[in-house]
Amino acid sequence: MLDRVFSPVSLGPLQLDHRIVMGSMHLNREDDPRALAAFYRERAAGGAGLIVTGGAAVNRTGAGGANYLLINDPAAAAVMSPVLDAVHHAGGKMALQLFHAGRYAFEATYGITPAAPSEVYSDFSRCVPRAMTQTQIEDTLSDFAAGAAAARSLGFDAVEIMGSEGYLINQFASPLTNRRRDGWGGDPQRRQSFPRAVLKAVREAVGAGYPVICRTSGADFVAGSSTLEESAALAVALARDGADAVNIGIGWHESRVPSVQAMVPPGRWLDIAGGIRAALAAARLPVPVIGSNRINSLEAAERALAAGQADLVSMARPFLADPGIVAKSRRGDRSLVNTCIACNEACIDRSLGAEPVSCLVNPRAGREADFPLRPVPPPSGVRVAVVGAGPAGMQAAATLAAAGHAVDLFEREQTIGGQFRLAGQVPGKADFLQTIRYFTHELARLGVHVLTGTAPDTARLAGYAHVILATGVRPRPVRLRTSGDLPVLDYRQAFADPTALGARVVIVGAGGIAVDLSRLLVDPGVPGGGRNVTILRRGLRIGEGIGPSTRWAVLQEIRAAGVRTLPGTTPLEVTAHGLRVRDRDGAAVLLPADVVVLAAGQVPHLPHRAALTRRGVPVTVIGGALDASGLNAVRAFDQGLTAGTAV
Ligand code: SF4
Repeated sequence: MLDRVFSPVSLGPLQLDHRIVMGSMHLNREDDPRALAAFYRERAAGGAGLIVTGGAAVNRTGAGGANYLLINDPAAAAVMSPVLDAVHHAGGKMALQLFHAGRYAFEATYGITPAAPSEVYSDFSRCVPRAMTQTQIEDTLSDFAAGAAAARSLGFDAVEIMGSEGYLINQFASPLTNRRRDGWGGDPQRRQSFPRAVLKAVREAVGAGYPVICRTSGADFVAGSSTLEESAALAVALARDGADAVNIGIGWHESRVPSVQAMVPPGRWLDIAGGIRAALAAARLPVPVIGSNRINSLEAAERALAAGQADLVSMARPFLADPGIVAKSRRGDRSLVNTCIACNEACIDRSLGAEPVSCLVNPRAGREADFPLRPVPPPSGVRVAVVGAGPAGMQAAATLAAAGHAVDLFEREQTIGGQFRLAGQVPGKADFLQTIRYFTHELARLGVHVLTGTAPDTARLAGYAHVILATGVRPRPVRLRTSGDLPVLDYRQAFADPTALGARVVIVGAGGIAVDLSRLLVDPGVPGGGRNVTILRRGLRIGEGIGPSTRWAVLQEIRAAGVRTLPGTTPLEVTAHGLRVRDRDGAAVLLPADVVVLAAGQVPHLPHRAALTRRGVPVTVIGGALDASGLNAVRAFDQGLTAGTAV
């Protein structure tokens, strides 16, 4: 069933026994060799064939932020040698990614003005770079060559040259950011000069028998940038120049076309890699094409290989969510794969700032050294009750059982998952149900006794050695004057039966839940969908709490679908005909509605604690029951891990 995935392939001299590459991810942990070694070791042991490191800047000007590995700095060896040892010891192979951010570097990081082909303002780094001189271009080529030689001498199995996602090499290839009229720009041919010169310099540095992969853009998705044909022509030129594989990236950081968000169907961009593969075949260049972006299962990778869209598939975030994704899939344990849900909340959103990267559904990611995997020990004899099987409770129960405790997990609803059950209904968020599938099987594997449809009383809980309350949240009550009989529901009632809502819905609140509900209600695929939906809030920020890499895409989507968004709007009164509000100009306005839905935050739901504490039962409170502000699933999973480890 995964025959193509698990067939061998060669990238030039590099032999791989399967076709899944673990793609490059900047972790913001690049100053911590212990954390890096444990992180990569676990992925190599989990079956990752070729692992590509996060971008290693070839010089300080090219670093994408403060916490970048500088491959040409003598300190790089102390960081990467233990990592390489760990990966090789676990049977993996590793490529170093040679990186230069160009105009995507942040001026404030080192107080250095970013360098780029031309002085074109970047929306991403919010600065105007300086145009590189001929000398600076030549120095940068030397830095790429030196970085490649350093990687080889450190023992890396390959290098990957980063030329996509809008970074320096991609900037030279694009007419939008390369306005030069010298040998480095002026027409499509000359705009290929720098990418090709980098490959030539790297090749000369490492020699003919060393694998060099070129990551290159398949589609920039920025107005005025390279055409698809120009991007494909560059990939062909790189293959002709001696790249051992081309790895196709999609979209720039400045692009307003969602490329990695949950709303993007898995495999959406593989046709672009497939087009480049066809162009290489037409040119009789048998160079493998690596497809990437928003592929989150080996089954999707198998389909891409079967369709001829790629020769290998690169996945990055799925290895954060489950370091063992390859080994589990190979064994046929698909139900035990913790699937990446493309939320970006603990990975991309953090990698763009300064916070260390982890994973929402796998809070151990990046912290494997602090939470080492151990074989499940013999039963400890300690009985623990976990009340509430939302994200925090599921994670706590799994962690406790893995430590050898006897765990009863109580859930008053008929199925586990908590707020993930609601999220999974939202168009584009079906993968949230994969998290519930994963925990259903993982909890069974670990022997957790799951009691759904059960709300234990305090007397029953008092019989446990420890109780973890992960009882979650309730919708925050909103007091609204009412002068008619218009239905007023809370968001849970609305999610429970969206088909019963009328044609005109006004949602009070505009955070993540309100935005999700609006997406559900306007989706033409949902029975009764295509409604007239308005969301409003007193504050000015619609979509507050949604991560930065997702918020713009979701707001773009709901506005395009006709959802009316009203910031700065105060609800006044529910009448027989709708919701009377004060708009941002201070005028009283009636918003016609058939139903008003309240989605204005949550409050903790925390039964039992006082009574259990009075009886002397140790209690730990986690998740929304502890802090309902800005309902935060990253925090919930993390607290589940921490609480489960502490018992
Ligand atoms: Fe995937 Fe979200 Fe985890 Fe990132 S944080 S790896 S997007 S599940």
